[in-house]
Amino acid sequence: MEITEVRVALRQSAGRSGTGEHRLRAYATVTFDRCFVVRNIKIIDGTHGLFVAMPSRKPKVVCGQCGFKNDAGGRFCTQCSTAQPPVTRPEGQGPESRDAAEAHRDIAHPITADFRHYLQRQILEAYEAERAKG
Ligand SMILES: [Zn+2]
Repeated sequence: MEITEVRVALRQSAGRSGTGEHRLRAYATVTFDRCFVVRNIKIIDGTHGLFVAMPSRKPKVVCGQCGFKNDAGGRFCTQCSTAQPPVTRPEGQGPESRDAAEAHRDIAHPITADFRHYLQRQILEAYEAERAKG
């Protein structure tokens, strides 16, 4: 599978909101094989450098390290980039808790390390190119 287009929308805000959103640098839209698009991929400036977060559903999970509320499904905290434990179902969930747990996954993501690296490299290169434009 080939990545045929990467579009990056830089986030302008200096981010003094204190929400941790300032670590979100850009959104990416990636096209695969000229026929399949994934939107809402995030480029995040983590403690250990830039990384790519695949789109995930809205439910939030609280980081055990810093307490930041992240979108569930991410592997790393948006605020402190600590690796997040696998999502467990929220307390107080009823019989549909299994569905809720399902909803906490990435909407779309690579399942091989090779493709994940390829995807991340393409996105970060596009991000750097976009930044270089000024
Ligand atoms: Zn954290």
